[in-house]
Amino acid sequence: MEAKRLSEADILAILRGADELIAQGGRSLLAKILKGSREKKVLELGLDDCPVYGCFKGVKLEEVLEKIDWMFDHDFLDIEYSGKLPMIVFTERGWYIERDKRADEFLREWDKWIAEDRSAPDMTYLKDRNRKMIFLILEKARESQNKQYIPYLEAWKQIDYRKVRERITSVIQSLETGETPDFQAIQEREVMLKEALQGDAPQDLYIKCWECGNRFLFSIGEQQFYRKMGFHDPKRCPECRMEREMSDFLDF
Ligand SMILES: [Zn+2]
Repeated sequence: MEAKRLSEADILAILRGADELIAQGGRSLLAKILKGSREKKVLELGLDDCPVYGCFKGVKLEEVLEKIDWMFDHDFLDIEYSGKLPMIVFTERGWYIERDKRADEFLREWDKWIAEDRSAPDMTYLKDRNRKMIFLILEKARESQNKQYIPYLEAWKQIDYRKVRERITSVIQSLETGETPDFQAIQEREVMLKEALQGDAPQDLYIKCWECGNRFLFSIGEQQFYRKMGFHDPKRCPECRMEREMSDFLDF
């Protein structure tokens, strides 16, 4: 049975939660963040500071896991293995959405500082983050035409690398001169974001066998089962798998 389509709010919440543990944790840890678990590991990693911590508090754990699995099925999240441990990673689609929302989140924080009349704090928290997201923050700052961002940008410029500094300089110039934003670029980004949020329905995969080179079916149901069990995707077709098992058995 096809699980019910997630709301946009659910999709965004799960992506935000996943952002805290990319390549560091699996689906059960993500579920714990969203449930607001008080478990030691959650607190030790400071995951209770995440803005979506506890946002599915009233939802049964089983249902939270179903929502997360829906995200895997619809190409928002993926699994990568660190040794034997399955870790959550973003798909291209998932990261496209999350970096846009995360960039907004950083600017909302600046807005808060402005409202509190706060001068620029230590801006090193922006250093060494994903470059695409950093440039997106800067583009959005430019598009905002908000001159009040300039002191934060100036402080940021002191601590970052040359490539980022150059971009910051250009944004400051745009803000100072009141340059008209590129509305077409903004609109294109919004259209792409909307499309990305649609997700991609799950599909059967045809994997090429490592051994014999034939393609074999890896069905949606099998994909879901493998993920739930924390297995790697199969590399060999059923026939070659069977043969291997037989020869292992004979060797024994
Ligand atoms: Zn084969």
